[in-house]
Amino acid sequence: MIRLTGFHRPRPTTACSGLTVTAMERPDRLRFLLATPTGQKLVPLVAKGDAVEPFTVLARWEDRPYAICPVKGTVTEFTTACDAHGHQDMPVVVITVDADQPSEPRHFASAREAVDAAGILIMGCTGLAMNQCLPTATAKALAVTAMDLYPGVHSAASLLARHGEACVKAAALAGSLVGVTRTVLVLPDGADAAPLKEASAAHKVEIHHAPVRYPLALPPLLIKRLEERLGITCAVMPLSTAFAAYKAAQGTPPSAVMVTVTGHTADPRAMLAPLGATVGQVLSAAGQKVEEGDKVVTAGPLTGQALCNLETPVEAGLSGLHVIPRKDVVETACDPCINCGVCLEVCPTGVQVHMIGRYAQYNIFDRAQGLGIKSCIDCGLCASVCPSHRPLLQWINLTRSQMAAAEVRAQ
Ligand code: SF4
Ligand code: SF4
Repeated sequence: MIRLTGFHRPRPTTACSGLTVTAMERPDRLRFLLATPTGQKLVPLVAKGDAVEPFTVLARWEDRPYAICPVKGTVTEFTTACDAHGHQDMPVVVITVDADQPSEPRHFASAREAVDAAGILIMGCTGLAMNQCLPTATAKALAVTAMDLYPGVHSAASLLARHGEACVKAAALAGSLVGVTRTVLVLPDGADAAPLKEASAAHKVEIHHAPVRYPLALPPLLIKRLEERLGITCAVMPLSTAFAAYKAAQGTPPSAVMVTVTGHTADPRAMLAPLGATVGQVLSAAGQKVEEGDKVVTAGPLTGQALCNLETPVEAGLSGLHVIPRKDVVETACDPCINCGVCLEVCPTGVQVHMIGRYAQYNIFDRAQGLGIKSCIDCGLCASVCPSHRPLLQWINLTRSQMAAAEVRAQ
């Protein structure tokens, strides 16, 4: 009898250890985007010549603080820049930093008031304030995750390695703000929990480990795994968000993010990059020289967005910058689908991605209904293995936006 056997394609893994962190010097002029991640332009609440200080609200979005100044300084210019999500000509306010930094931490009546004043967003990209992020009626546990989402990114692991005990306190604070019955700090398999034992017992934060095989740390898959293990409904918050809330409660607004930089030099670098610095300044501080024809990609190499130029300001939510040397840039050939099925093999959610790609290529988006497109978790594995170099994730996103636009037209 002939027996057909499958094979296991090697999957990339995410980080389980932190890197030595380099704190980047803050530039004299900082640039803050006055726009949402979806490209909605915001009205500035400051004018040229205004003095600003930590917690000054630069812009609001839907009646809540959105762009928050982290420094003392003066508004010196309004300009535009590309954001990290591919939107061009987004409004930017430029602040010249006062030489007599730093200022005293601000006192708030409660941690919730501080977090609201700091405009902290869940995931840094969904547009929801932290206190709106979890419907407590459905989520009974909060998992603060120290897992890096993408291969090649070591930012959460580096934050944990640098501020272990404070990360436990941050998780406890996040759990109390959200109002859940159990708070869990999720570490990658291989991370040593021993140094956190005392703090986790003192602050009633449970420690769990999760696999580093990509894409198991992406929130939908992690939630599913934790709910099975804990036996209660669960929601996930990145460690960077909980840590920013913890710092805000101590009177300091978010002022820097942990960014992993990879590129021409062999080893990745963990940079503590000031919010408002440009991507070019971060790459330069990390020793990465960008040459003509190189590509700079944010987030993970499988899913990230290629930047238009290096003037993009650093925002909350940025975790990785990858310089892909010109010689390694793959031209997208977009050959016809050969029905090999490897995209289906690697997809963790069973999306009929090869068919969605065909419909999207010929602009028949309505045919993609019912092929599982809503289950897609944007992991990018399908496109990374396609031998025809078909831009499958981009087509999924195009199809989603076309379907959403059709729904709006139908209303
Ligand atoms: S990006 Fe591709 S592989 Fe990942 S969930 Fe979506 S369809 Fe599946
Ligand atoms: S991997 Fe590419 S060529 Fe193979 S079935 Fe999927 S879309 Fe088609």
